[in-house]
Amino acid sequence: MNAPDLTTPHHETTQQLVDARTPALPIELIRADAMLPVLETIEDTRHRPLQDLRISVTDRCNFRCSYCMPKEVFSRDHPFLRHDQLLSFEEINRIARVFLKLGVTKLRITGGEPLLRKHLENLIEQLASLCTLSGQAPELTLTTNASLLAQKAKILKAAGLDRVTISLDAIDDAIFQRLNNMSVPVATVLKGIDAALAADLNPVKINMVVRKGINDGQIIPMVEHFRHSGIVLRFIEYMDVGTTNGWRMDEVLPSSEVIRRIHALYPVHPLEPHTAAETAQRWAYDDDAGEIGVISSVTQAFCHSCSRARLSMEGRLFLCLFAGAGYDLRALLRQNLDDAALQASIAHLWQQRDDHYSELRGQGMQPLRRVEMSYIGG
Ligand code: SF4
Repeated sequence: MNAPDLTTPHHETTQQLVDARTPALPIELIRADAMLPVLETIEDTRHRPLQDLRISVTDRCNFRCSYCMPKEVFSRDHPFLRHDQLLSFEEINRIARVFLKLGVTKLRITGGEPLLRKHLENLIEQLASLCTLSGQAPELTLTTNASLLAQKAKILKAAGLDRVTISLDAIDDAIFQRLNNMSVPVATVLKGIDAALAADLNPVKINMVVRKGINDGQIIPMVEHFRHSGIVLRFIEYMDVGTTNGWRMDEVLPSSEVIRRIHALYPVHPLEPHTAAETAQRWAYDDDAGEIGVISSVTQAFCHSCSRARLSMEGRLFLCLFAGAGYDLRALLRQNLDDAALQASIAHLWQQRDDHYSELRGQGMQPLRRVEMSYIGG
């Protein structure tokens, strides 16, 4: 894949930018009584159940990490979506309720940076009061860069948030500031992590995207910082999400190499997965210093167990992180249809799903269009 031309000025709105790459697909409105007999859960064409919904609440972020929201593309005057273009909390809540009726048990809030969405705790409170098919509250999690978490952790916990996953790609302050491209000091994120622990948003997980030659020298310092902390540090292979980051295969450090480097200094042994659909392979330090994980999105695709759907901030439904287009759920919402018809239409989409991009990538195939990570979350 050729690197994108980052020298051209980009004055499109995010809507235009994304529209240019990911057209909104209309969804056929399916009558509820045309639905197949309702099962406990629904499966796609590869027998994968629908279990997780990731909800992006904003296209804005206060970081400019080059693999997600490169500064050259998302400049200071970049016109992001207006507030009235975003799904309202009530609309998100309604869509989530329908997904729970289809077997979803876990809701993850993402962005952009989700804590930039005002009064996010109000949405959390609404989602926490919903029920899964088994009558329990859904598992409610949030992915954040933690720059605003110190002020928000307690409020989010009180609203019903269960836990957080924090993105942090370096522990060295100079390297971290260079990576986030906005001079945010690492101390700000560490305060957010402390606040998450104090608010009992456990287990706190930290995701580090590893790029060979960029931040792989931070693997051991990160390990040394978070051993014995109770925090689960996870290393993610650098992925070709979107088309603006100029991804190259030679910047991918395979998880096997990450484990080899850690094991040489701090011996580790593998752990059993919590669930069959778990994306991270779990490891524990032999000296009981805690747990780490690796997410081998490139070298060991896990499409076979992928149970995740993604909802964009403006109401498009993506059935794969690498999809070129999202289904226009907001258009359905505004047709005044009832929940049963909405549920039938979403079920119909999932039952036709065949996405398995990471497996195809391994066979050398590349779709022309891919949604941007900053638009849909990781
Ligand atoms: S490539 Fe698509 S189908 Fe495969 S694991 Fe990722 S999101 Fe799921």
